[in-house]
Amino acid sequence: MNEELKELLLLEEIESKISQIEKKLTEIPAQIEKLNQEKENILSKLYNIDREIKNLELTKKEREIDIQTFQEKIKKIESILEKVRTNEEYKMYLREKAQAEEAILELEDEILKIMEDLENLKKEREILAVQVEKEKEEIDKNIKELQEEIPKLEEELKKLKEEEKSLRNRIAPEVLAKYETIKQRVKNKKVIAKVENTTCTGCYTLIPPKVYSQLLKGEQLLTCPNCGRYLHYEPE
Ligand SMILES: [Zn+2]
Repeated sequence: MNEELKELLLLEEIESKISQIEKKLTEIPAQIEKLNQEKENILSKLYNIDREIKNLELTKKEREIDIQTFQEKIKKIESILEKVRTNEEYKMYLREKAQAEEAILELEDEILKIMEDLENLKKEREILAVQVEKEKEEIDKNIKELQEEIPKLEEELKKLKEEEKSLRNRIAPEVLAKYETIKQRVKNKKVIAKVENTTCTGCYTLIPPKVYSQLLKGEQLLTCPNCGRYLHYEPE
C-alpha cells in the first residue's frame, strides 16, 4: 500500500477515536447528574415514609395529652360532685363526666388505629430501607466508575492528540490540505473511501478502469474522480 495512504488511514482512525473520546467526556457529567437525581428520588421515598411516621407519632402524643386533660377534668368533676347540693347540678356534672369518658374512649380508639398504622409503616420502611440501600449502592458504584473513567479518557486523549500531531507533521502538506478539504465537504463521513467491487463506497459510483488499474498497483495516492475522496483498495 502507498505509504501516504497508510498514514492518512491512521490519521482518520486517530481522529475518529479522538472525537469518540471527546463525546464521551462531554456526556459523563450529564450521566453522573442523572444518576444523582435517581439516587435523590430513591432516597426521598425513605424520607417521605420517615416523615409520615414522625407525624403519626406526634399525633399519638397529642392524643395522649388530650386523654390526660380529660382524665384531670373527670377528677375535678368527681370532687365537685361530692359537694353538689341540687339534683339539677348533680345531673349536669354527671353528664359532663360521661361526655369526658366518651371522649377518652374515642381518643383511645384513635390511638389504637395510629399504633396499627405505625406498625405497618415501620414494616414497610424496613423493607424499603433494604431496597433503597441496594439501589443506592448500585448507583454509587456506577457514579464512581464514571468518575474514574474521566482521567483515563483524558490521558488517552492526550496521547492520541500527540500521535495525531506527529502524524500530521509526517504527511506532506498538500496531501494533508486535500484531506482537510475533503473532510470539510463530507462532514462526519469518511474522508478515505474503500473501493469494493470496483465501486467507491463514498459515493457509490464505479471507478473508471484506468484509475482502477492504478489502484491495483497500489503505488500512487488516488482520489475518486466523482466524489474526490481518497481511495483505499485492499486486495481480498
Ligand atoms: Zn467516490
